[in-house]
Amino acid sequence: MALAHNLERLQVLLVEDSAADSELVLRELRRGGFEVTGEVVGSAEQFRSALRANPPDIVLADYNLGQWRGMEAVQILHEENLDIPLILVSGALGDVLAVECIKQGATDYVLKGSLARLSVSVRRALQEKLLCRERLQAEKELGKKVEELARSNRELEQFAYAASHDLQEPLRMVAAYTQLLAERYHGKLDEQADKYIHYAVDGALRMQALIQDLLAFSRAGRQGMEMEPADCNLVIGEALANLQLTLHESGAVVNYEPLPVVLGNAPQLRQVFQNLIANAIKFHGPQSPVVRISSRPSDEGWQFSVQDNGIGIALEDVNSIFVVFQRLHTRMEYPGNGIGLAICKKIIERHGGRIWVESREGEGSTFKFILPALPSAKPAVAQAVRSENYEQPSRSLVG
Ligand code: ADP
Repeated sequence: MALAHNLERLQVLLVEDSAADSELVLRELRRGGFEVTGEVVGSAEQFRSALRANPPDIVLADYNLGQWRGMEAVQILHEENLDIPLILVSGALGDVLAVECIKQGATDYVLKGSLARLSVSVRRALQEKLLCRERLQAEKELGKKVEELARSNRELEQFAYAASHDLQEPLRMVAAYTQLLAERYHGKLDEQADKYIHYAVDGALRMQALIQDLLAFSRAGRQGMEMEPADCNLVIGEALANLQLTLHESGAVVNYEPLPVVLGNAPQLRQVFQNLIANAIKFHGPQSPVVRISSRPSDEGWQFSVQDNGIGIALEDVNSIFVVFQRLHTRMEYPGNGIGLAICKKIIERHGGRIWVESREGEGSTFKFILPALPSAKPAVAQAVRSENYEQPSRSLVG
């Protein structure tokens, strides 16, 4: 196709019943710097067959023809699935009508009395079409990339699941038989042998724990997710019940305000709160752990905060801690495998939300995350929180 910006060659299809007006239009375009080839049609049938025989760069249509309206040409362009700009060139066109025509799909309109504008309008229409085509192409490519990424993520997840699942069995053998060796031969060989067996048992058990964690991470992304109204007060209640022993041993205090009902998967959300509260307790500093959980409405839904008075996190580590197996401490300092936050991130992102941490070393951490609100309700505590929680401005659970 000959484009205006390329040699300024232009193939025009004119919908016009006046030969004199056609000549005027073509002359104006030549004067505007186009090398024009033009065909003139005066009826819908002629228009359709001209489009099929030789699709033009642009259609210039008179609004008011004897037998049919030039605007019907827009309809025919749609029917023929052709993305060709159409400019109305008319003797008189009121503002209201002009706006209506543009709404229906005309690119622009030029009055016959001001034909000097025509070349500018044609150039702009062609430029817009080019930009539009480029944008569509870019969107198509982006869509393809997103799809590819989703596919490769699925494959990777499938791989992680299959690999960790299949590794379990041989590992179980290694762990079981090294443990048997340890039981049967402890003290019967030399000291060196005892040490080696101990290392082997320890390594096998650690690898089992890592594989279990990897499977848990993989499961968090594979499980079906029924999204239902989930009362976060109940969700936290369950998380705290599961953490009873930890709370008791650490003497931690967990405070939480009345929390909203969100759209989510309660068991997965329980896991998020449980991981965050467990970390808030585990990474405590010299003071005994105090954890505060709160929520507030945000533009994206509900924003939750889990705040602690623990050791805090250096600024350069605030992103890496959400990556699988990333830890900032040795296992001797704090136990763990570095999977908890990766699971939280996966769950929150599957809910359409996001999670981040605000912290300073030595000054405690606040983990924040967004969850979707119920579709019917704009986030508002009054609508979302179970009524009995109102009587209790804040709950406190002391370990
Ligand atoms: P794990 O607790 O098993 O190490 P996580 O994925 O839950 O694994 O956490 C990753 C790392 O992030 C932790 O090892 C710790 O260094 C840091 N971290 C997580 N929560 C906190 C917290 N509340 N305060 C300080 N550091 C934290």
